[in-house]
Formats: sequence, structure tokens, C-alpha cells
Amino acid sequence: MSVTATPIELEDVHGAHNYHPLPVTVSHGEGAWVWDDEGHRYLDFLAAYSALNFGHRHPDLVRAAHEQLDRLTLTSRAFHHDLLGPFCAELAELAGKEMVLPMNSGAEAVETALKVARRWGYEVKGVPDEQATVVVMDGNFHGRTISIISFSGDPVAHDHYGPYTPGFRVVGYGDAAALESAIDETTVAVLVEPVQGEAGVVLPPEGYLAEVRRICTEHRVLMVADEVQSGLGRTGETFACDLEGVVPDVYVLGKALGGGIVPLSAVVADGDVLGVLDPGSHGSTFGGNALAVAVGREVIRLLATGEPQQRARDLEPVLRDGLAPLLGHGLVGLRVRGLWAGLDLDPALGTGRDLCEALVGRGVLVKDTHGSTIRVSPPLTIDRADLEWGLEQVRGAVGDLVAAAG
Ligand code: PLP
Repeated sequence: MSVTATPIELEDVHGAHNYHPLPVTVSHGEGAWVWDDEGHRYLDFLAAYSALNFGHRHPDLVRAAHEQLDRLTLTSRAFHHDLLGPFCAELAELAGKEMVLPMNSGAEAVETALKVARRWGYEVKGVPDEQATVVVMDGNFHGRTISIISFSGDPVAHDHYGPYTPGFRVVGYGDAAALESAIDETTVAVLVEPVQGEAGVVLPPEGYLAEVRRICTEHRVLMVADEVQSGLGRTGETFACDLEGVVPDVYVLGKALGGGIVPLSAVVADGDVLGVLDPGSHGSTFGGNALAVAVGREVIRLLATGEPQQRARDLEPVLRDGLAPLLGHGLVGLRVRGLWAGLDLDPALGTGRDLCEALVGRGVLVKDTHGSTIRVSPPLTIDRADLEWGLEQVRGAVGDLVAAAG
């Protein structure tokens, strides 16, 4: 490949094709805006699937990272470092729990929670060895490891990766009766996204999370809430479970925890659950590294002020009102929670990809999830005027598709 090849051409030839990005090469970002390598400006309406809840290069987060880069980045867990204890204490306090286990990616944190739940099942609940089951939801997205994709219903994520990990039972999302009947004496956990982000911001029926909580308590099963995408301010609450006043046994966190700067994830629970792990039973070389938790502590500090959550609540009506006129006029479905929306384009008008490409032309970056569904999740720090401008572009792009369909 010639040295004058563009970054996209090089990626196409030398990078594995496990993504299908929009044809934009971002080289700079600030707040809710990014610039491509030719200087064109785009409004970031995806925010790295909520990993950029605080926007690109938030000054407090960048400062924390710079200061830490000049001091210490990694020790491994073979030694203590001076930030891990404070980070765990502060995140535990934010979540109202006792203990934290830091990892790196969201999928690793989900795997960690599943391992903890199985251990808890064998050592505390008394499930016979090798028998543990976990109930999961149809339409789930929890990451890409072999165990996790073993219970994915998405053929693209699942197929040709077998043999698959056993021990999972899938029930309909939002169906509390099906959940209850799937639980038996072998069940150690229910793994649920309080809002299914990747599925297209799918909201459970009102009262469902409270029912999951009740069922888990009655059957002595751990309620594991995967808040990797829904948590840390996106829905207008610190955790989406807070919307129903529900406290799970285990929170799984990721994405925004690393401030869009470093990968940082965590499992957060009380000592009677996380305490089942002993030295050597689980770990990660980079988990809880000094650079990541320095940024994570600053993220926790921002969330502890309540301001990002308040901003999502304040902007929710702007987002809803900006999109609602499209229902029945290009959109066949619309779901909004906090600063987070799932839009179902009428498939007769085109695919989600068509809409995303049209929006690139209008200076707005979003991404389709499945078929004709796209997700809007701007940084929570976005200016109201910028949000309104972006929504105007969405209305314009959908309007163009309606007009083209005649
Ligand atoms: N869990 C949920 C709910 C997610 O939305 C995602 C990613 O989108 C993950 C887990 C996996 O996170 P990661 O891509 O960091 O492994």
C-alpha cells in the first residue's frame, strides 16, 4: 500500500473489518464537537456510545490525566498504589455499596460479575457445583466475549463462535412472569440492562425493574444491573435503576467511568457478594491502574455534584420535543429517557445507515444500531443551542428521506 494512502484506505487494507464506520476521519474533539482531518466540524450525537458523557477532553478530566501521567501510570496489582483505595471508596459511596472491583472494558466487567455470581451461588447459596444458571434477557447486549455472546440473540454477534458457554436462560425483556418461571434452585443471578441501549434505547415497562428486584429477593438470586451504557448520568440519574428507585445487588459500570480518556470498568457490590473472591481467583494486569483511576476519581467527583444528571433531566424535553414531530412523519418509533433516544426510521424510507450518512452530510454524527434504528446520545455537556441545531438536522434529514420516497 502506498505511503500516500489515506487513513481510511490503510484501515481498510490492514485493519480487521469488524466494524463498518461512517466515512469520517476524526482528528480533533472538544466538548460536543469533533473535526475531521480536512477541518470539517461535526456535532457528536453518539458520544462513543455514552463513553463520552462528559464530552471530548473535559478540562477537569484532561487535567487529572495529565497530572497522573507525570506521576505514575501502572504498578499492576502486585503492589498497592496510592489512588486505588480512594477510588474504590469513592465509587462504592457513589453507588451506596461497600466494595469495588476495577477492570478495563465493559465486557470484562460483565464477565467478572458473572464469575462472582457463580462463586456466590456455589459458596454462599449452596448451588451444586457446575449447576449454576443465570437468567438473561432477549435483546441483550453485554459485550463480545465468548460467554457473553453465547447468550446473545443477535446472529451477527453470535454465529460461528461456538461451542458456546452453557448455564444461561433467555427470557423476554420486560416479562416479569417469564423471568420468575425461569428461576429455579440453580439460579444465581439475573443479568439485566435497566435500559437496553444497543437494542435501540428499549425501555422496560413501568414497574418492571421493581418486579425484577422483588423476584430476585424472593428467590435469593443476585440482581445484576448492567449499567455500562445506561449508568453515570445518561438517563438523568446516576444509575438507570434509580428511575424506579431500585437497588440491584451488583452494578456493572464502564464506558463513561473512564471519562472517554481511558478504558475503565468496575463491578460494585456489597462485601457479602464481592467478598467471595480471594487472591488469584480473578484479576487483570491493567485493572485499577493509576492513570485510569485518576480519571475515574474525577468522573466520580463530577457525578457527585449531580450536575451531569441534572443536565440530562433538563435537556430531556428538548430532545423529546425536537424529535416528536417526526413520529408518523418518517419515524415509526421513538423512545426517550434522559439525554438518550432511540429512533425507528420507517423501513420503507431507508436504513438507519442511510439516515446516518445523510446526517454526516449535515454535520451530525450518529450511528445506526439495528436495521432502521438509530440512537442519539450526545455528551451531557452539550449546549442547548447545539442540541437544538442537531435535532433540526435530524428533522431535515428524515424530511429529505420522506420527500425522496414521494
Ligand atoms: N454492557 C452494555 C450494556 C453495553 O452497552 C456494552 C457496550 O456497548 C458493553 C456491556 C460492553 O462494553 P465494552 O465494549 O467496553 O466491552
